[in-house]
Amino acid sequence: MSIRGQEQVEKKYDPHDTTLTFVDRKDELDPMCDDDCLRAEMSCGHAVTPDSLTNWCRSELDKGNYKFRCCALVEGNKQCNKLWSYPEVCRLADLSVEEMEYFEDNMARLAAAEYCEVQTCPRCKTSVERKDLSNLCARCTVCTADRKKAYDFCWQCRRKWKGPGPRSDRCDNDDCIDGNLELLQTCNTISLPAVEGVTHCPSVRVCPTCGMKVEHSQQYCKNILCPRCQVEFCFVCLKLKRECCKTSSPYRICPGGVAPRQTSVPVWKRK
Ligand SMILES: [Zn+2]
Ligand SMILES: [Zn+2]
Ligand SMILES: [Zn+2]
Ligand SMILES: [Zn+2]
Ligand SMILES: [Zn+2]
Repeated sequence: MSIRGQEQVEKKYDPHDTTLTFVDRKDELDPMCDDDCLRAEMSCGHAVTPDSLTNWCRSELDKGNYKFRCCALVEGNKQCNKLWSYPEVCRLADLSVEEMEYFEDNMARLAAAEYCEVQTCPRCKTSVERKDLSNLCARCTVCTADRKKAYDFCWQCRRKWKGPGPRSDRCDNDDCIDGNLELLQTCNTISLPAVEGVTHCPSVRVCPTCGMKVEHSQQYCKNILCPRCQVEFCFVCLKLKRECCKTSSPYRICPGGVAPRQTSVPVWKRK
């Protein structure tokens, strides 16, 4: 089924696709459906069709859930509830390019809205939440009430804030540095055996969307799903996967080559 009101064409698996496991059981996401569309098995062992999987995940997404869990009924009328990864959903739901964009935009928006960082106040040790991810200057309400005077500390070096705020890079305390920035400059380079032509890629990258530090397992293709913001990006050229895949295969070096070491950490912007 397509998302933008184009004509609804039923999706079907390619019977020659050897990466899928086809099964003879009914569609366990939509047991009432009795058309003879080929069913494939998910990682949890339940059988789906591309349409039933698309519909279920789409309805979950529209309810605000961006982590997809199997709804097949198991004994005692409980749900299987196993978590499916987005790449698995993408493949077995046979998502179109428009559907992928719809899913990824919404997953990223929901993940950003839910995300919140917590750090302990260096003075009173209570937990402080940070909503503005671009400001390192954090106010502890407990200490502020206690001292009857504003108490701010630095999110990065966890000392009393020094200098004018707000700032996103550092405070004025000596050696207030972003450990990730240093790591980006000093980490080893690796090869990606599954990706043709990639021999000297920095082993640590920060996600271009949210700034989270990620390493590549060296086992799979060049794309990585960021565990924090749920956006896939190419570890080699650092473009979003959906941009990079327009010009090259996931198993071959990108036309622009390996992007140099990153020199700044992107700040996650909530839409
Ligand atoms: Zn299941
Ligand atoms: Zn405090
Ligand atoms: Zn600092
Ligand atoms: Zn991210
Ligand atoms: Zn790339």
